[in-house]
Amino acid sequence: MYTSNRLFQFEVVGLNPGSTAQTQSCSVRQSGSIFITVPYARMNQEMRRISRLGGTIVNIQPLDGQRQPTASASSPGSSTQVSMQPAPTQQPQGKIHPKSEDTKIPVNTYRPKTPFIGKCLSNEPLVAEGGSGIVQHLVFDLAGSDLKYIEGQSIGIIPPGTDAKGKPNKLRLYSIASTRHGDNEEDSTVSLCVRQLEYNHPETGEKVYGVCSTHLCNLNVGDDVAITGPVGKEMLLPPEEDANIIMIATGTGIAPFRAYLWRMFKEQHEDYKFRGLAWLFFGIPYTANILYKEELEKLQQEFPNNFRLTYAISREQQNAEGGKMYIQHRIQENADELWKLIQQPKTHTYICGLKGMEGGIDEGMYSAASKFDVDWPTYQKELKKAHRWHVETY
Ligand code: FAD
Repeated sequence: MYTSNRLFQFEVVGLNPGSTAQTQSCSVRQSGSIFITVPYARMNQEMRRISRLGGTIVNIQPLDGQRQPTASASSPGSSTQVSMQPAPTQQPQGKIHPKSEDTKIPVNTYRPKTPFIGKCLSNEPLVAEGGSGIVQHLVFDLAGSDLKYIEGQSIGIIPPGTDAKGKPNKLRLYSIASTRHGDNEEDSTVSLCVRQLEYNHPETGEKVYGVCSTHLCNLNVGDDVAITGPVGKEMLLPPEEDANIIMIATGTGIAPFRAYLWRMFKEQHEDYKFRGLAWLFFGIPYTANILYKEELEKLQQEFPNNFRLTYAISREQQNAEGGKMYIQHRIQENADELWKLIQQPKTHTYICGLKGMEGGIDEGMYSAASKFDVDWPTYQKELKKAHRWHVETY
């Protein structure tokens, strides 16, 4: 186990020495590099600060003589060298988005009493033939609104009509599936990935359809839709371009990750050129239920060094014991690599999808951590404290 008072030395280029005043100690070498000593507990904060000031961390070394050979962060408390150094990202083609000036996170621009009434621009099925259920990709026009959002946020949708008590229907939240620039990259749309809720009533056995999800899945192009928000700060991407982003999704939990992946690989930005490793674990019942399959696989082909895609197809694949393949089995299979990654201070893990999926993930992580004699619940607590473990389940 590591201790939070261990010291690390950051080698940073591109920083003005005056800007290091907040750090514990710093020295400037002839090479122009600045060396900053940082306690483990402040590493994330310091990385963000350096990045904000325009500096690049070219090396991190634990102050116990274990030199790390690359720009990757070392594993706290471990002398293991991380071999998963992603190669530089290939540059995507297409529109270059200028620097985003406002780093403020927009919240509640539209509230339930005064929602923005957008229009449905498209409503496309995402489940292929033979798959289970109905899941739609919806795009709404935000023209004329002040609604701005960033990747990882959600919006509220107010379905028309009244509830069982005769009161106007309440809003339901949906994770945004597009980047802040929207699918058309014109900064004027927002996209959702919605599953129609359908279940058999526990007493009557009658088929019941969810109010809001049915309203959304049945929208026609040109229909009005009442939008609130945006909300949410839990699932935001870290600003560091060399962060490692582990994404674990079930079903529509893919929505925020589609937004991340578009931002990382599909769009071009002046102020964000992702060069870390993005690893998506995606759990679905059938191949036909792999939402955004073509987009995901195309990105994997184009960016093999920076994007890994691992499916767990429960009804089609078998785990090592011959049972159904769930996400936790994929985590166990990749335990060594995942463990090395998770220990790096620049690695963030995001979990999104069905309530209940966390149990399986913890199970997978528990056995991954046990291989290295680490107690997962204790380690996870530290990750949460460091804001490197992000969960949104519903
Ligand atoms: P409702 O009409 O509200 O019915 C839901 C109710 O039905 C439940 O409260 C429960 O009482 C009952 N019910 C449900 N299942 C059963 C069952 N099996 N047996 C008995 N009773 C049952 N959804 C998406 O599709 N995509 C997203 O990206 C998405 N993102 C979300 C993000 C956040 C932060 C949150 C909180 C939720 C998200 N959801 C998402 C879920 C979404 O908000 C709605 O809860 C979902 O669409 C169902 O709403 P509804 O109006 O269709 O169902």
